[in-house]
Amino acid sequence: MSNNVVVLDAARMKELQAYYQSDKVTRKAPGVVFAAKTADASITAYKSGKVLFQGGGASMEAAKWESAAAPAPGQPKKAVRHADALPDQLSSLSVIGSDETGTGDFFGPVTVCACYVRADQIALVEELGVKDSKQLTNPYMRSIAPDLKRALTYSVLTLKNEKYNTVQQKGWSQGKIKALLHNQAIRHVLRKLDGEHPDCILIDQFAERGVYYNHLKAEPEIVRENVLFATKAEGLHVAVAAASIIARVAFLDEMDRLSKLAGRTLPKGAGKKVDETAAAILLAKGESFLKSITKWHFANAKKAAVLAAKKRG
Ligand code: MG
Repeated sequence: MSNNVVVLDAARMKELQAYYQSDKVTRKAPGVVFAAKTADASITAYKSGKVLFQGGGASMEAAKWESAAAPAPGQPKKAVRHADALPDQLSSLSVIGSDETGTGDFFGPVTVCACYVRADQIALVEELGVKDSKQLTNPYMRSIAPDLKRALTYSVLTLKNEKYNTVQQKGWSQGKIKALLHNQAIRHVLRKLDGEHPDCILIDQFAERGVYYNHLKAEPEIVRENVLFATKAEGLHVAVAAASIIARVAFLDEMDRLSKLAGRTLPKGAGKKVDETAAAILLAKGESFLKSITKWHFANAKKAAVLAAKKRG
């Protein structure tokens, strides 16, 4: 389950409604002006201009609307996210892989890891048990992450909730937040490599190349050389799979810390259990505490407030 929020002006909001007209559904909730459901995403547009994309296809759909450049009227950006042509033998090259986690979770941070696996380390990394992390359990990832960190050059960034909420309220989309973190983590790894050049840098794709670089345009240092984007990249090179595991473990560590602060285990995702836990925390510890451990713009914040009000009677 993934959650993406994009803020649109009135003109783009009209385009969005026209674009999803055939998938329109009725959703009666406060502030909702339009809702639609596609095969793999549900889209909810609010009076404020915020549009929430949820479900497996959420980031794909959101990416269509994240671009600062508005397309010609009546011509929403193409549904296809252009993946790059990939080099032959990609899986056996020296690669910096980069991946993030936590973007669909109401509680906890966004974490991003970039990780370098030299060609002659690939066998070792496989030996250490790296596979496509989507198939791995949390305890298993925790058990192998220390060995990966010892063996590899990596950078892992944890964007804690308070900072996340601050930049989100400044108008940064999740796409922009992710792009900045990926770029920063990759820069750190390149600096640590001290002149050694990877054959390529492979980013697990969450946005089209143009959208990604548009997010970075104000950055002083933008990594462009040999950067490739591909979806499901954790299956294309172990460097992305290793990055994904290290990012996941950083997310889990921060969730443990926040769970201790909250006095209860924080659930992952953005579902009903999350609403219920958030309501209980709201009643026990108040709104500013809840805000400090969540991605406050998610719909869960409002749902929790409604649940808590009911409990208060
Ligand atoms: Mg990813």
